[in-house]
Amino acid sequence: MLQLVDVHAYYGGIHALKGLNMTVEKGEIVTLIGSNGAGKSTTLKTISGQVIPKTGKVLFHGGDITKQPPHLTALSGVAHVPEGRRIFPRLTVLENLEMGAFSVKDKKIIKDRMERVFHYFPRIKERLSQKGGTMSGGEQQMLAIGRALMSQPDLLMLDEPSMGLAPIVVEQIFEIITELNKEGMTILLVEQNAYQALQIAHRGYIIQTGEIKMAGLGKELINDDIVKEAYLA
Ligand code: ATP
Repeated sequence: MLQLVDVHAYYGGIHALKGLNMTVEKGEIVTLIGSNGAGKSTTLKTISGQVIPKTGKVLFHGGDITKQPPHLTALSGVAHVPEGRRIFPRLTVLENLEMGAFSVKDKKIIKDRMERVFHYFPRIKERLSQKGGTMSGGEQQMLAIGRALMSQPDLLMLDEPSMGLAPIVVEQIFEIITELNKEGMTILLVEQNAYQALQIAHRGYIIQTGEIKMAGLGKELINDDIVKEAYLA
C-alpha cells in the first residue's frame, strides 16, 4: 500500500532522513520506533506531504505522491494524526469531527462515519458540544483519532498517540488501535513507547539518526537483545 524508496529529507542543512526505505502492506500495523530526533515525525510528514524529500520516492497504492500537497494526499486516503494531537481547541467536539470529513458533502455519509467514531469512542458522543481544548489529554487524543477516521482513510498514521497520557489511557488507546486494525484499518504507528507498540504491531522498523537500522516482525524485535537494551530498558 505504501512504499518509501531511498528517501532523503532536509531541514535547511539538517539531513533528517538519510535514504529511508520502508513499506506498509494493506491490513498491517507497522510501527516506527526510535529515540528523540531520530526522524520519526519527519517520516510521517514526508508521507503526508508536509515535508518534500530532496530525493527518493513515496508511493501510495502504486502512485507517486512524493510531491503531492497534503490536502490531496489526505483526499487520496492517508490520515495523519500529528504529535501533540492538534485538535481545534476553540471548536466543539462535533465541529472538530466535521472538519475531518471536510471533503464530504453528503450528510448521511457524515452521520454514518460519526456513528462509527462513536462506536470506538463512546465518550466523544457524550461531549459533542464541549470545546475541544477543554477535554483531557486522553480525550483529545481520542478526538484526534476520531477526526482522522472521519475521512475514512485507507492508511491511518499516528504520531506518538500515547505521549503524555496516563498508563490506563495508553492501554485504551492501544486497544482501540488493535480493534481498528482487526476491522481492516492499515496503521503506521510512530512510538517512543516501544514495548507496547511492538506488542501490537505486525512489523516494526527501528530508526536512528534518519536511517533504518533494523526491521522485523514485532515479535522478533521485542525479543532482540539490541532492541531490548536500547529501547525497552
Ligand atoms: P521526536 O520524538 O523528538 O519528535 P522524531 O524521531 O520524530 O523525534 P523528527 O522530529 O523527525 O524526530 O526530527 C528529525 C531531525 O530533524 C531532528 O534532528 C530534528 O531536530 C530535526 N528537525 C525536525 N523538524 C525540524 C524543523 N522544522 N526545522 C529544523 N530541524 C528540524
